[in-house]
Amino acid sequence: MYIVLLGPPGSGKGTQGKILAEKFGLAHLSTGDLFRKILENTEHPLYSHVLVVKEGKLVSDEVVNLVVENGLKSPEYDDGVVLDGFPRTVAQAEALDRILALMGKKVDLVVDFDVTTDVLLKRLLGRIICPTCKKIYHIRQKLTHCTECKVPLIKREDDNEVTIKKRFEEYKVKTAPLQDYYKTNVSQYIHLIIDDASLSPKDVQDRAFTEMVNRKLV
Ligand code: ADP
Repeated sequence: MYIVLLGPPGSGKGTQGKILAEKFGLAHLSTGDLFRKILENTEHPLYSHVLVVKEGKLVSDEVVNLVVENGLKSPEYDDGVVLDGFPRTVAQAEALDRILALMGKKVDLVVDFDVTTDVLLKRLLGRIICPTCKKIYHIRQKLTHCTECKVPLIKREDDNEVTIKKRFEEYKVKTAPLQDYYKTNVSQYIHLIIDDASLSPKDVQDRAFTEMVNRKLV
């Protein structure tokens, strides 16, 4: 199964992506995590192409498609993948369809997380992550270390007001048009409206699973 997670920054793609991948035994591919890894190594051949991440801008389609295409060829992705943060433009979605078609595969399901901007902002400004396993936390949990890896939690460099604003703009202009693309190009599109700030990750997960069961996807 190939699942695409759509939604603005902070909408829960990372958190839910991990849960979905574990539940269905799929690999989890986060382009954001891949790019942050590249940024840790100034000698990496793609370093200069990925620097725009720090400004909240999208990496070019050419570079993203190359990274994902190489990644998807790896055997760990053979049994299916939860794609978290890719595609983010229509050109990337078209490239993904082409890459999967060559492998005799296709996008089976798109889950679109729809969350109000107020909630997104609160989540992003308070978000802290584990640098090792990438688990996502919030400062309101008052944790200093990852509950699993025991390493100190950190704030993402792009989770500041200026960069978040740019990321929202990029989402609106370049990524939101993907909703129409997928509504016409995949048979299963789940639109999850998360309009309640108090919904826990578990509640969101339950909603997603209920939808998947209703549609006989699992
Ligand atoms: P978020 O969804 O919270 O913005 P991500 O970790 O998915 O976080 O992405 C972080 C940044 O990485 C994005 O703001 C963008 O700069 C870059 N990025 C990730 N995925 C893509 C993509 N598919 N295309 C272009 N840029 C991307």
